[in-house]
Amino acid sequence: MTVSVFDLFSIGIGPSSSHTVGPMAAAADFIDKLREDGYLHKVANIQVDLFGSLAATGLGHGTFGAVLLGLEGNRPQKIGPDEVDGRLAEIADGSPLRLGGDGPSIKYGIDDLIKRPLTVLPRHANGMRFQAFDAAGNNLFDRYSYSIGGGFVVHDGEDATAIVQDGAKLPYEYTSGEDLARHCKETGMRISEVGMANESARSSKEEVVERLLEIASVMDECAKHSLTRKGVLPGGLKTQRRAPKWYERLKRIDPNHDVGHWLEWVNLIALAVNEENASGGRIVTAPTNGAAGIIPAVLFYALHYTDRAKEDTDEARRSIICDFLLAAGAVGSVIKEQSSISGAEVGCQGEVGSASSMAAAGLAEVMGGTPTQVMNAGEIAMEHHLGLTCDPVGGLVQVPCIERNAIAAATAVNAARMALFDDGDSAMVSLDAVVKTMKETGADMSNKYKETALGGLAVTVVEC
Ligand code: SF4
Repeated sequence: MTVSVFDLFSIGIGPSSSHTVGPMAAAADFIDKLREDGYLHKVANIQVDLFGSLAATGLGHGTFGAVLLGLEGNRPQKIGPDEVDGRLAEIADGSPLRLGGDGPSIKYGIDDLIKRPLTVLPRHANGMRFQAFDAAGNNLFDRYSYSIGGGFVVHDGEDATAIVQDGAKLPYEYTSGEDLARHCKETGMRISEVGMANESARSSKEEVVERLLEIASVMDECAKHSLTRKGVLPGGLKTQRRAPKWYERLKRIDPNHDVGHWLEWVNLIALAVNEENASGGRIVTAPTNGAAGIIPAVLFYALHYTDRAKEDTDEARRSIICDFLLAAGAVGSVIKEQSSISGAEVGCQGEVGSASSMAAAGLAEVMGGTPTQVMNAGEIAMEHHLGLTCDPVGGLVQVPCIERNAIAAATAVNAARMALFDDGDSAMVSLDAVVKTMKETGADMSNKYKETALGGLAVTVVEC
């Protein structure tokens, strides 16, 4: 089934969609299930096992704290970034965990989580096992869950496609670029129009527009908030925030967004969003947190440097945002259906490569590209990220992640402009072909390069 744009762009907290957002949601799901089955009040003890990448890089990705907060019933969409540190400090000081927020209190902290970094479950590298016991030691509930990227979670017994089976009957179902192109050809619709028609089958058009604008607004707020912050990012790597300093400099040399400085602004927005993500701030998963700066940065380009942006009205801005996000979501849906957006599954090509591909498609749509050109833009951006590994230094979503978002955003702009400069008919590689290649490349990639911090820069860069 076609993935909704609102599954690809969700509001949560940093620093990682697969390692922070997903585990918190999985833990909250576990508590909800206990409550639903009438067991929550009987729980006297729990056991949580974290496997593979979640255990290997969980400390730097905030996984352990996210699980504890999820066990207290928090959801990534709802919890405020400011609440996270305070509550985790209380738990570290001995405050008992309040299961579900209003259930039994138990002594349980980060040290009680069982970390199994060398055990990778067959279904996915980001596996978790949740167990609940009563006072007599009887096992009340036992379930494996998987954080499969972009904040998506599946539980044992569920098909991965369950996450997108919301029951809506869509007018234009597609799971491949070929299907999407056929719908456009048969109806004469643009890609964003196909996206809007499908989303309107799930809720009213007014609600769809409102939610898309809210996503863009959170992206904008995220960048703006980041630009007011100073100092080093948390985690012990002593990574300096660069965006606030760059902003002061850029405002002086380019107060009016001259087109000659578009690249500096795109770089700045990507850095700002990813620095905010690295500090656990409010973020739009797009389609993952590690790659969350690319789409806001390219959307900034669409809103400031395209022909449509010359019509400086609220209505023009709203329509650019909607067209951009719907087209980006359409390409993201194809990637999610055909491959993966999880760094732990296919490496960084699946995170940053996917975000760059989606951003290129969104920009090409705003620039007036035909459906063929829009998909070519997505293809070009993905093609030149093939093989990109995931090797975060210290297991933190900082180096190379933050800078990589800026590079990928610039690639997306270039990909859109290349696709638009060409009629598209001579393209040798299709979107479907490159997505399939990305999946196969990911399957062949050593686990060292799939969000385990066991290879690449994660081992060659000395942490100070
Ligand atoms: S290297 Fe890429 S996939 Fe890995 S954590 Fe960083 S942004 Fe995510």
